[in-house]
Amino acid sequence: MPRLSPMDIYKRLPGINCKECGVETCMAFASKLIERAATPDDCPPLKEEKYRAKREELIKLLSPPVKEVVIGTGERAVKIGGEEVLYRHELTYFNPSGLFYDVDDSLPGDELRKRIKEIEDFGVEKIGKVLQLDGIAVRCKTGDPASFGEAVLTVSETSTLPMILCSYNPDVLEVGAGVALGKQPLLYAATPDNWEAVAVIARKHGCPVVASVPGDVKGLLELSRNLKTSGVEEIVLDIGTNTLGDRFAKTVNNLAILRRLAIEDNLAEAMYPILGVPMAAWLGGEDDISASYEEAAVAASEILRYCDILILHSTEIWSNLPLLNLRLNIYTDPRVPVSVESKLYVVGEPDENSPVFLTTNFALTYFTVASDLESAKIPSYILVADTEGLAVEVSMAGKKITPEVIKDIFEKSKIAEKVKHKKLIIPGVSARIKGELEDATGWEIIVGPKDSSQIQSFLQKTKA
Ligand code: SF4
Repeated sequence: MPRLSPMDIYKRLPGINCKECGVETCMAFASKLIERAATPDDCPPLKEEKYRAKREELIKLLSPPVKEVVIGTGERAVKIGGEEVLYRHELTYFNPSGLFYDVDDSLPGDELRKRIKEIEDFGVEKIGKVLQLDGIAVRCKTGDPASFGEAVLTVSETSTLPMILCSYNPDVLEVGAGVALGKQPLLYAATPDNWEAVAVIARKHGCPVVASVPGDVKGLLELSRNLKTSGVEEIVLDIGTNTLGDRFAKTVNNLAILRRLAIEDNLAEAMYPILGVPMAAWLGGEDDISASYEEAAVAASEILRYCDILILHSTEIWSNLPLLNLRLNIYTDPRVPVSVESKLYVVGEPDENSPVFLTTNFALTYFTVASDLESAKIPSYILVADTEGLAVEVSMAGKKITPEVIKDIFEKSKIAEKVKHKKLIIPGVSARIKGELEDATGWEIIVGPKDSSQIQSFLQKTKA
């Protein structure tokens, strides 16, 4: 499907430039809609009856080829799907793959609660973000609806994470969905054999449903069509995850076929998020370490091949860290440098004698400098200049660190009122603008080390 132009959108807006949406013109708002930085609801006049047809057309036009599905409620709800392109560089990917970890109803209460806590509390900080696991997949291992209901109740009472309820038995799913009432769990799964009963449960409880037909694209599309025709709106597709040899290659191929059918062919039955089950790696009977490795490798391939949600088992940090980093990287908007706010930051409790450092607002640069200063226990000020999110060397090459930019952050931060010295330590790679900065600020400019990990020894040597 060709990408929409602002004019395509503008034609469906009221065109009265009333500014109620917060921007100057309807054309500017059209650009925001295309970037998904606003929704049609942000244009109040569009809600008037006379614009009803335009509004409906607009909503249809703006719907992404992969429908968005929300699992769970509240702050930890997970939105999946919503993708518009096959390759991230064509635009961006929008909703990171949800990572759900299994528990099962055969676990004794204490163990179940311990595992839930382990999943919920997992967190690793990276460039100012906490990378977390997203949800809990409750499996029915006992085959007993009552035991499953108890496990779902324990998860509901001890965690705010969204759930996937896993069973092919509609009686089990009915009990689980009843216990998780109002929490919008994802039901796993409707199959060609049980889909009519599962569709009834999904409609009754307002739950999204996984359509599952392992290895059979045609069969999966037919099941998706049947679910939709029966009134189920929120569908997730599972083409199966087979981790063994050539069959894994087939799995990956099927995932790509499904997403191409959605994005390139706009085939209605394929226009849903895709689920992968890397946890299948544990079925091979290998030891825990080998299974964790295999699961992580399969999960990485499935994240890269369009899976919007995954069910995993290993909560080991070494198997999840690569996945969380991979996901962070590919779901970062390539059009926007990862930046932090340009302002004055403090490390520890600096006073009027503390050193003042300058760096750029590329997030990775700032967090590296801040973390090096924190580790070295140097109470200090960091002036973060607005270099449009570019790192120091690129900023120098692109002339983004200019006397004007530095003057701006000096004035904005009121740094001159916080210290009694007039010394600014700049990154080593910006040595060539030392003179210009001295003229612009009236401060002594000290050229620091090229690598912030050497700041401590630099300060000791120079007594700056
Ligand atoms: Fe145009 Fe609607 Fe924005 Fe008014 S609120 S300027 S009509 S887009």
